[in-house]
Amino acid sequence: MHFVTRPFRTKHGHKAHKEYTMDTKGFYKRIASLIFNNKIMSFDLDLLIRENVKRLTPYSSARDDFKGEAKIFLDANENSLGSPLTKWYNRYPDPHQLKIKEKLSAIKKMPVENIFLGNGSDECIDILQRAFCEPAIDNIIICPPTYGMYEVCANVNNVQIKKVNLTKEFQLDLAAIENAIDENTKMIFLCSPNNPTANSLHHEDVEAILNNYFGLVVIDEAYINFSRQKSFSVQLSEYPNLVVMQTLSKAWGLAALRVGVTLASEEIIAVMNKIKPPYNIGQASQELTLRALDEVEQVNEMIRELIKEREVLASGLLNLSFVEIVYPSDANFLLVKMNDAPGVYKKLLDMGIVVRDRSKVELCEGCLRITVGTKEENQTLLYALATIT
Ligand code: PMP
Repeated sequence: MHFVTRPFRTKHGHKAHKEYTMDTKGFYKRIASLIFNNKIMSFDLDLLIRENVKRLTPYSSARDDFKGEAKIFLDANENSLGSPLTKWYNRYPDPHQLKIKEKLSAIKKMPVENIFLGNGSDECIDILQRAFCEPAIDNIIICPPTYGMYEVCANVNNVQIKKVNLTKEFQLDLAAIENAIDENTKMIFLCSPNNPTANSLHHEDVEAILNNYFGLVVIDEAYINFSRQKSFSVQLSEYPNLVVMQTLSKAWGLAALRVGVTLASEEIIAVMNKIKPPYNIGQASQELTLRALDEVEQVNEMIRELIKEREVLASGLLNLSFVEIVYPSDANFLLVKMNDAPGVYKKLLDMGIVVRDRSKVELCEGCLRITVGTKEENQTLLYALATIT
C-alpha cells in the first residue's frame, strides 16, 4: 500500500483521500476513497519504475568501460586519422558530461549526483516518461494551457494523458487534479512559470500536491530565472517525489546548444542515466556550455535587462486601444489578450515581425504570446502595433 494520496489540505478545504493496494497481478487497485486514517504513507520509487527498466542492463560505452589516460585509443571505432575539423572531434564526448555538471553543481549548490543533463529539457521530458510510464497502462496529468511537449511525448510513448485545465486565473485546480489521479497516474507535469500563460503557480498549491501525491511531481522551471519565485530545487531534500526541470535555452541564452537540466534525488537521476542514449550531448555543445557557465554575471545582467524590458513592453502594450489584458509575467514573454488577435498577428507578419498566435488555445482565446525582445525590437514592435489601430 504505497501509492496513496493523503488528504489534500488546501485552501479549498478539500480533504478527500484515496488509498491503493496491489492486486495479485501486481496492479494497484483503489481500495478506499474519501476516508481518513492514521497510517503513515510513503513514497516508494521502486514501485514507479517500469519493470523492463528495472531489469535493463544499460548500454556500456567504450568510454564507460575504460576511464583514464592511455597512449593509444583503439576501443571505440572512431576515425583514428582525425576529422575535417579540430582534432578531438573524432572522439566521442564524455557520456556523463561531468565537467558541465561540476560547474552547474557549484552554481546551483547541488551535488553532481542530483543533476541529469538532456539534449534540451525536451529529452528530459521524454526520458522521464519512458522510465516510469508503462505504455497503454499508465497515465500522466498535465494542466493546460501549458507547454505542448508533455502531451506530444506521451502520445509518442502511448501514455494516456489526463488533462486538468488551469483555473481562469491560470492556477492549479487542486480538487480536479485529485479527482483525476488514479492508480496508474505515474507523474504530474506542472510548469512554473507556465508557458504560455507566463505566471508562476502558487507555491502552496504545488506543495499540496507534493505532500499528498506519491507519484512523481515534475516541475518545469524553464523560465525560473525571470521569476519572482524561488526554484523548487531548494526543496529537493524535503520531497523524494520532486523532479525539477530547468534549461540553458532561456535565461542562459544557449537554445542552440540543446542542454536541459533535471534536478532530482540521486535515485531518480540514476534511473534517467540508465536509459539515456550514451552520448546525448555532443562535444561542441559541451565545450561551449562549459565556456558559457563561467559567465554567470553576464547572464544575470541579461536577466535584469529582460525583466526591465518586460515591464516597459507591458505598459506600452496596455496603451494600445485594442489591447484588453496584459497578463502578469514571471517569464521572458507576455501573454496579451486583444481584439482580433489573428488579424493583428497577420498584420505584424506583413511588417516582418513574428509573434505566437495562441488564440486557438483553450483559456488563451484572443491572445498572442510575445517574447520580450531587445529595447529596439520592443520599440519597433510597439510602433508597428500603433499603426494597426
Ligand atoms: N519547457 C518549457 C516550459 C518550454 O517553454 C520549453 C521551450 N520553449 C522547453 C521546456 C524546452 O526547452 P529546451 O530548449 O531545453 O528543450
